[in-house]
Amino acid sequence: MRSTILLAILPALLAATAAAAAEPTAATAILLRPARVFDGTATHVGWRVLVKGDRIVAAGEDAAAAGAREIDLPDATLVPGLIEGHSHLFLHPYNETSWDDQVLHEPLALRTARAVTAARATLFAGFTTARDLGTEGAGYADVGLKQAIDEGIVPGPRLLVATRAIVASGAYGPKGFEPGVEVPQGAEEATGEDVVRAVRRQIAAGADVVKLYADYRWRPGEDRRPTLSEAELRAATAAAHDAGRTVAAHSTTTEGMRRSIAAGVDTIEHGYGGTKEIFRAMKEHGIVLCPTLAATDAVARYSGWDGREPAPAAVELGRASFRAARTAGVTICAGGDVGVFAHGENVRELELMQDAGMPAREVLMAVTSVNARAFHIDDRAGSIRAGMAADLVAVAGDPAADIRALRQIRLVMKGGKVVRE
Ligand SMILES: [Zn+2]
Repeated sequence: MRSTILLAILPALLAATAAAAAEPTAATAILLRPARVFDGTATHVGWRVLVKGDRIVAAGEDAAAAGAREIDLPDATLVPGLIEGHSHLFLHPYNETSWDDQVLHEPLALRTARAVTAARATLFAGFTTARDLGTEGAGYADVGLKQAIDEGIVPGPRLLVATRAIVASGAYGPKGFEPGVEVPQGAEEATGEDVVRAVRRQIAAGADVVKLYADYRWRPGEDRRPTLSEAELRAATAAAHDAGRTVAAHSTTTEGMRRSIAAGVDTIEHGYGGTKEIFRAMKEHGIVLCPTLAATDAVARYSGWDGREPAPAAVELGRASFRAARTAGVTICAGGDVGVFAHGENVRELELMQDAGMPAREVLMAVTSVNARAFHIDDRAGSIRAGMAADLVAVAGDPAADIRALRQIRLVMKGGKVVRE
């Protein structure tokens, strides 16, 4: 009965909604007047940005609308909403609780409650989008969290989720238990044809991006070794691409990276094992590197490093591979593996990229337009121009001159709504 009535009035409702979208009232228009605008590529002095509803409708010196609410942001730079390239909202820092204990002992509801606060901290830090690369044992809870954010139930960034992620059978953790008992694992295990089955299952369940582990430690204390075979990586990547999903490959070894490149993945995470030849091949195939410098830095500090130079070998290796990738001309994604360190501290990765020699303007491009292109969302995110989602962040100072300015948040807008002022 109720559905009959709804069906009867639905056309009228849709017409009203369409009219509202086509002709926003002056009350819904917002004119932002910062000192400068970084549009995703270049900085413009004296630009204004006009927002109507959830979209940017104009950006330039003469952007204006009669009756628009004006927000003055003197001395501030307006930048596109930042895009976190590698997060784990369902993890919290390992110096609070070890990864093993999070996966083995924390109830799903507890992990989800933490993820809700992590999502809010991420958004308030200016990150209006995040590519979340695996729940690390929290199943498909990221799909539900994404829905809660999209429905406005809890604040958070727009999410691209990977769900459970895929590892070769026996290759992940936690480990160290009586081999006859099954213990919870941080990702979905698969072998052979089952890898493709897992890809398809995860996509059907809500995965926007497929995360594959090309290598890992087989036993605690061992060096990292390739895990999924080249054939498995190829088949999984093809299945993901058939479904219009991108593929992120965790890889820290030379051979894991070589196989990932051969498989045609979209991004390689970490990439510490990259050689000159490997990075040249990544450049040639247009594969993006997500260097996660902040994760290595955090883990080194958890094991006692006080931050003084010389840095521990692992930190140096991360910096060296980052520099080698840049020298080879590899496109660099901005993603810190946040979750290993505190959510809301996402800018840490950008600071370390700058400290390792990347000019601030390039870091700012990485975390906006470059990430958007790498994740195939550049039709709506990562730049300031008419037609884009009104995801905007104002910061004091000029982040294209010093990326640390991104910590001085004046305003965060997501979908045309001011979420932090
Ligand atoms: Zn990660």
